[in-house]
Amino acid sequence: MSKPDSACALVTGGSRGIGAAIAVGLAEDGWPVVVNYRSDGDAAARTVAAIEAKGGRAVAVAADVSDRVQAERLLDESVEAIGPVLCLVNNAGVRADNLAVSLSDDEWDAVLTTNLTGSFRLTRLALRTMIRARFGRVIGIASIVGPRANAGQANYAAAKAGLIGMSKTVAVEVASRGVTVNTVAPGFIETDMTRDVLERAASAVPARRAGRVEEVAACVRFLASDAAGYVTGTTVFVDGGLAA
Ligand code: NDP
Repeated sequence: MSKPDSACALVTGGSRGIGAAIAVGLAEDGWPVVVNYRSDGDAAARTVAAIEAKGGRAVAVAADVSDRVQAERLLDESVEAIGPVLCLVNNAGVRADNLAVSLSDDEWDAVLTTNLTGSFRLTRLALRTMIRARFGRVIGIASIVGPRANAGQANYAAAKAGLIGMSKTVAVEVASRGVTVNTVAPGFIETDMTRDVLERAASAVPARRAGRVEEVAACVRFLASDAAGYVTGTTVFVDGGLAA
């Protein structure tokens, strides 16, 4: 089944970093795109402008995906502004690192509610439209952390492993409806989130460098395409060989 003409894409946390590259890439592939952000409206406006400069269509919508009411409003506003969301990229994510013995409830909750619960709620909401359309793409941005250990990130690992597990199960529930559900697991990618650890981390990567945001976006663009209609319930690692 091919993508309906009216289909649009929603990229959570699309204002900066990996999410911005995904938003720009999907727009290049012809998707009208909703660029979601939490607080940095200027960054979101820059991403929208970059898309429009290349002839694409995009709108920025502020919403905190960890909040149930705001997540529902985000979906409603996206449909109103640009069309039915038939590609959902659950990219918004945060870190709050600490060794498990010192990890507070607040640090646990902040990471789980944004990275996992927010992704599930948006997926649940978007699936209704996708199932009706007999076409859908749900793509979660997970991490090599989760499938692999990383000291100081028990909360982040739990959220990302949860995202992978949730996506696999949803994938088999909706596979017969033309909806695919996959995750992309980046290694160390150069963004605001990793500036503090990048130099140290990159030396451990077999490719001997950090990844670029466009390299993650390329994988998402493939999973969103008609060509990937038979790829579902899987995780693609974009990590320079780190998880091999
Ligand atoms: P950045 O910190 O560069 O950007 C995070 C984006 O998420 C921003 O657009 C931010 O918006 C948005 N965001 C954060 N919290 C919320 C929220 N509650 N609601 C809505 N938007 C939110 O992150 P990266 O680009 O590095 O990471 C993107 C994704 O990739 C994350 O899920 C991350 O876990 C994952 N990842 C990143 C890796 C890396 O090496 N960079 C490696 C593996 C996975 P605003 O600025 O407005 O707050």
